[in-house]
Amino acid sequence: MLMSQLYAPTLRETPAEAELVSHQLMLRAGFMRRSASGMYTFLPLGLRVIRKVEQIIREEMNAIMGQEVLMPIVQPAELWQESGRWGDYGAEMFRLQDRNGRQFCLGPTHEELITALVRSEVRSYRQLPLRLYQIQNKYRDEIRPRFGLMRGREFIMKDMYSFDKDEEGLDASYWAAYHAYERIFKRCGLEVHPVEADSGAIGGDVTHEFMVLAEAGEDFVLFCPDCGYAANVERAEGVDQPGEAPQDDLQPLEEVATPKISTINQLCAFLNREPKDCIKTLIYLADGKPVAALVRGDHNLNEIKLRKLLKCQVLELADAETIGRVTGAPVGFAGPVGLQVPLYADFAVRQTVNAVVGANKQDYHLLNANLGRDFVVTTFADLREAQPGDPCPRCSGILEGARGIEVGQVFKLGTKYSKAMGATFLKEDGVETPLIMGCYGIGVGRTVAAVIEKNHDDDGIVWPISIAPYHVVIVPVSMKDPVQAEAAQKLYNELVAAGIETVLDDRDERPGVKFKDADLIGFPIRVTVGPKSLEKGELEIVIRRTKEVRSLPVDQVLAAIREIVEGGDLG
Ligand code: ATP
Ligand code: MG
Repeated sequence: MLMSQLYAPTLRETPAEAELVSHQLMLRAGFMRRSASGMYTFLPLGLRVIRKVEQIIREEMNAIMGQEVLMPIVQPAELWQESGRWGDYGAEMFRLQDRNGRQFCLGPTHEELITALVRSEVRSYRQLPLRLYQIQNKYRDEIRPRFGLMRGREFIMKDMYSFDKDEEGLDASYWAAYHAYERIFKRCGLEVHPVEADSGAIGGDVTHEFMVLAEAGEDFVLFCPDCGYAANVERAEGVDQPGEAPQDDLQPLEEVATPKISTINQLCAFLNREPKDCIKTLIYLADGKPVAALVRGDHNLNEIKLRKLLKCQVLELADAETIGRVTGAPVGFAGPVGLQVPLYADFAVRQTVNAVVGANKQDYHLLNANLGRDFVVTTFADLREAQPGDPCPRCSGILEGARGIEVGQVFKLGTKYSKAMGATFLKEDGVETPLIMGCYGIGVGRTVAAVIEKNHDDDGIVWPISIAPYHVVIVPVSMKDPVQAEAAQKLYNELVAAGIETVLDDRDERPGVKFKDADLIGFPIRVTVGPKSLEKGELEIVIRRTKEVRSLPVDQVLAAIREIVEGGDLG
């Protein structure tokens, strides 16, 4: 490819819309352009990277007996009504109607479609296991589309679905996908950490997310350096003992005026108490019914845990009007004493004595509230967010925390979809039984963004060889010099003939401009064709990642480049 013809409009300025480095660099280096919020056009360089990641995924999926299919993006509502998710998916789903008023959605995921496909053909255990995958656009009307490819409303996903005859089969499919994911991300130059996770709207119990640890991540991961336990904070278990608190030394309940106090910290400073001596009372609407959730003042409620406990579809913080009605006070003064709604408390609350709580009365709190004596809890459960510094739930270690980017997730679905949609097969003993399913997703664009987050410097992107848009850029210092132009062209022809993906920067620009663009785009190898080295019969190879410069005799350049490209590793 000639640089003069490559459609890669680079930008000198950082676009204001982009917060993350990966987003900024993909725009600046001419890899993509935004068309609408959360939707992007890939330009030639961006598409080459995307296609390379897809190819790595494809090879690894094929290697675990995955067979590629391509399903429609537009999916009929009826299938989602069968699984019960037409309602559940909510506002994230893009919905549309055809001319006859029939309802459809743009697929946010494809469990329904694939289950409907397979149920009409798979009849016998002899046809199992079956692992089908596709690489295709997905549509989710995200509340906050942002960070470029990290969180789009249209994004490319690889989704695989497995169908097995029993739990052992599912286990084999699940771990095959899990290990394939480890290989895929490694080949993309990414270090990933599989963590236990919550299954969200997809369903199922066992699930791992593949996290790239990075400040830019929207997830928070807890891990134990001693035993390797790692979990998304959404999932991480708390380890508070559910035992009763000592009942001696209970102080009398006392009402105190706390005017103009709105935060736990202000309250603690005013009363000279610690946050762990307080109990926070949060009023929620669970499928429209008010409930109260109690956590210790230094803890945060984990809404996913609460939703699971209540088995409700919609859990939302109550509005001010509801809070006023339920507590008799404005927002900020809720407390468990005298509250007439079910109280769900985290285990740690059970051990809090003489607690500070809201008084359900404007500008007042209560001191020395005690469980049993002053209020009764409906159910205790693990309801709080685990946090760094907590004991590990698996060993005696202490948890640490880090931000993470979720690039992939694997799920054991079991029979959730096959049961709901009647996808059954005949077992060896002739009994008809639902297919056992798993599903496995990778965000292709998000993976590319994560690679850039982890591989860039002040000058631009530093691509791993495996997914670089091109391996080499040849930069003649001056195209006007026929000797340089000829040497550059000759090397270009040789590299291309050797199957090395090469760009020749044939533009009539100053060398500084060409070097800047080369660094910004992130070609792993640059060959500079300059008058001084040519006089010595040499060319200069510059390694993008390390900036290491090697002068090599012209006739050794091809072999050196080939070695680097085939080695795939630029340390
Ligand atoms: P998130 O929690 O980040 O919203 P998710 O858990 O809903 O993602 P999955 O349903 O597990 O996503 O989708 C599989 C993969 O698709 C994710 O691991 C992620 O890499 C990618 N992905 C999901 N949503 C988006 C998005 N809006 N933009 C880009 N990639 C996405
Ligand atoms: Mg996920």
